Amino acid sequence: MPFDLNSLLRPNIRVLTPYSSARHEFSGEASVFLDANENSLGSPLPQAFHRYPDPNQTALKIEIGRLKGIDPEQIFLGNGSDEAIDLLYRMCCDPGDSALICPPTYGMYSVSAAIHATELICVPLLEDFNLDIPAILAAIRPKTKLLFICSPNNPSGNSMKEMDIRTLLEAFNGLVVVDEAYIDFSTQPSWIGQLERYPNLVVLQTFSKAWGLAGLRVGMAFASREFMSVINKVKAPYNLSDAVQQLVLDALKNKGQVKQSTFVLLSERDRLEQEFAAIPCVLQVYPSDANFLLLKVTDAKAIYRYLVEKGIVVRDRSNVKLCDNCLRITVGTPEENTVLLERMRQYGA
Ligand SMILES: *Cc1c(COP(=O)(O)O)cnc(C)c1O
Repeated sequence: MPFDLNSLLRPNIRVLTPYSSARHEFSGEASVFLDANENSLGSPLPQAFHRYPDPNQTALKIEIGRLKGIDPEQIFLGNGSDEAIDLLYRMCCDPGDSALICPPTYGMYSVSAAIHATELICVPLLEDFNLDIPAILAAIRPKTKLLFICSPNNPSGNSMKEMDIRTLLEAFNGLVVVDEAYIDFSTQPSWIGQLERYPNLVVLQTFSKAWGLAGLRVGMAFASREFMSVINKVKAPYNLSDAVQQLVLDALKNKGQVKQSTFVLLSERDRLEQEFAAIPCVLQVYPSDANFLLLKVTDAKAIYRYLVEKGIVVRDRSNVKLCDNCLRITVGTPEENTVLLERMRQYGA
């Protein structure tokens, strides 16, 4: 069956007429703008924020397109990846439809499903945190619209196997969403390069991790032009502020800094991995393609509380499927990591 995006859309979205803003309707040259009820006299701020921002984020998409090697028309930008996740549900899922996730994984897929009254099908990862392909294929139902794959996965840190993702892209007629929030820390290639081949592929990335811009809230989705024509209808017209668009454009001029900090984080991840392995309360260090490590420890809750007492906050994941007695620890600065290691060595001593 050839992929048909229209058949996945909620019927009301299929026929939606989008809001047409003043900035959409006029695109020529002019010097007097009296079309959007803005304040032509300015604002209390020194920056010129009195005009509505570009709803299409054209300048920013051109730069991101250059960075990622993709047509700017295949880029969606939103208020974090979380906006893209929410919009996927809003585009496709009526109550009664379902989405499939593979826990343990990122929490927003299930929160968004609950918000949209979408049924959630959970097919746990295997013991080694790889995808259980036969179980996934068996669990897909006619009304399954979305399949979320997080690679590298949060909280396990591993990348999913290329062949497994390919199998799902070929066998599933809904949207396969590959969340690559941590791709910059991985040696695996991005799935962006496969978009021409798979019309049902949506790739998510973010400025929150390797780019260090979590506070700005900027996420990216990459997909077919047809997908973009729909998501752009559904998003809020001015979903990225002018301040954010300008700041990300500035950040993109400084790629060298990101390369450098990524290099430091990766070498620190290696150091932590090695040194954790020699600490008595650490039973296992899972291999990571991300900027964090998942550790199996002797007593996660006790060690979590002990670290908090010392002023160090990590993430207790011991209540999560397959993560019994596991802590997820973000790679910090070299100094922070040294303090963490020292405290961990002292635990129980
Ligand atoms: C951190 C993270 C994100 C990023 O979300 P933003 O809303 O862009 O900050 C997305 N997916 C996963 C799996 C994450 O861990």
